[in-house]
Amino acid sequence: FQRLREGLARSSNQLSGQITALFTKRRLDEETLQEFEDVLIQADLGVETAMRITDRLSDGRFGKEISGDAVRAILADEVEKALDPVARPLELDLSVKPHVILVVGVNGTGKTTTIGKLTAKLVRGGLKVTLAAGDTFRAAAVEQLKIWGERTNSTVVAKAIGADAAGLAFEAYDEAVRNDSDVLIIDTAGRLQNKAELMDELAKIVRVLQKREPDAPHTVLQTLDATTGQNALNQVEIFRNVAGVNGLVMTKLDGTARGGILVAIAAKHKLPVFFVGVGEGIDDLEPFKARDFAEAIAG
Ligand code: GDP
Repeated sequence: FQRLREGLARSSNQLSGQITALFTKRRLDEETLQEFEDVLIQADLGVETAMRITDRLSDGRFGKEISGDAVRAILADEVEKALDPVARPLELDLSVKPHVILVVGVNGTGKTTTIGKLTAKLVRGGLKVTLAAGDTFRAAAVEQLKIWGERTNSTVVAKAIGADAAGLAFEAYDEAVRNDSDVLIIDTAGRLQNKAELMDELAKIVRVLQKREPDAPHTVLQTLDATTGQNALNQVEIFRNVAGVNGLVMTKLDGTARGGILVAIAAKHKLPVFFVGVGEGIDDLEPFKARDFAEAIAG
């Protein structure tokens, strides 16, 4: 929680400062409310949530003074309400072995790093994990994954750059069966420049996996970079359709004043949010908790 609070300090300091500036020694009127609504929208919370918060704030308080702390309490409360339904722990059905996790998302949003951190958690929990370096386009991505494999003592299945990602996923599945892994995590390429190609590639990975296991991939995680603000919303739209995303991880909440976008994404997509990334280190992946996040945002 402390890390999340520190991480979100930029979001919350900015909001908190704006709230103090708006509500100090001022009676609540239409103009203040409108300005507050703008502040919330600029914080990426989304119009719907912003309106709900200002509605609640105005209720019975017109013409009265209201403290910054009271506003922050209402804000935290409403953010929590918006996020509570999507805050869910990642639960892996381990009756199927290996449980297959496909990780998708635009390049640079933190796929490989999140895979590394998640693997560390699973391994610490006593599970055996195999990793598939399915981003076969970028040498750096493959190298990164290998480093995470070493760090977590996990097998990494990789091929030469340019190799067919679906073929690699297929081999990795067989390797995971052979070495008795509980979980197989597949990294993928996230080149949005060519959407048709990306779509084909992800569809093909799914298709070949299903030759071995009809329900694979069991979990499809999308990483979102909090610093990209509104872009993250569109990315969910795209990958949700292409890859059947059924859970989200919001990364880089440590480096941004834009953490509020998660509220808009929750309202729009209603997908579970399993974790948040709050740094580059192995321990910087935290289970997503609505209350902690809400308090950290509201300051
Ligand atoms: P990919 O291209 O989607 O696989 O993204 P990477 O995992 O390579 O991450 C891109 C960059 O973001 C790397 O420099 C990571 O160290 C960094 N990164 C990933 N997650 C986080 C996070 O939660 N916080 C911070 N500060 N950096 C992160």
